Amino acid sequence: MKLKHLEKLLENLEGFSKPSPLLEQYRTPAPLAARLLFHAAMRGDIEGKRVCDLGGGTGVLGIGAALLGSRDVVAVEIDPDVLGIARKNARQAAVEIHLIEAEVKYPQVLPLVGACDTVVMNPPFGAQQIHADRPFIDAALAIAPVTYGIFNAGSRSFISSYIAGRAEIDEVIGGLLPIKRTFAFHREEVREIPVEILVLRTKVQHENQPANPGERGT
Ligand code: SAH
Repeated sequence: MKLKHLEKLLENLEGFSKPSPLLEQYRTPAPLAARLLFHAAMRGDIEGKRVCDLGGGTGVLGIGAALLGSRDVVAVEIDPDVLGIARKNARQAAVEIHLIEAEVKYPQVLPLVGACDTVVMNPPFGAQQIHADRPFIDAALAIAPVTYGIFNAGSRSFISSYIAGRAEIDEVIGGLLPIKRTFAFHREEVREIPVEILVLRTKVQHENQPANPGERGT
């Protein structure tokens, strides 16, 4: 599938009907979602893989992953009304994804989802509830070895120190998140927020690896 084609399919999906500011319900615009997914697909992290979408919302990222050939997609979302829209969207896109109504709380969410190959997410940025992004990061790192997440531009250094010892930022891809006037406190019709797609890779501990490979010698 071509990037433009995926964008078009995602564009046609239904968005939030009554977006909650507290839950930071902003739909990822189709071009940004398609970009994230294509990038992950190019890296071999989508096709044939088990993918988890944390804070799946109306399903844009999860449905996109399924359209690009994921073996299985699980989306976790706290808001049951929004899950209804995601269900409709999946039907419209003719893909099957597993929707789980739950709060992304670490570690409680882990047994609900099980191990995955890849996490895709556009988590709350923590603009309304401080640190709302942290359980998403904690859960993502425990669920899958690689995470493609959308974050506020400039949060890179915070995230890098937050995940230190557990994972590292493997790649940073810049982008803009056009946010339409959704809530009364928004002053402009459309505001473009600079965001970054961060690729987080967990550090793998290989049991058979010598503690200090440099001293292996012969
Ligand atoms: N992934 C979607 C939605 C992004 S908005 C997209 O890309 O368009 C963030 C989503 O996370 C919202 O749907 C919101 O309801 C959900 N959410 C916020 N806090 C949550 C939590 N603690 N647990 C589960 N879902 C949460």
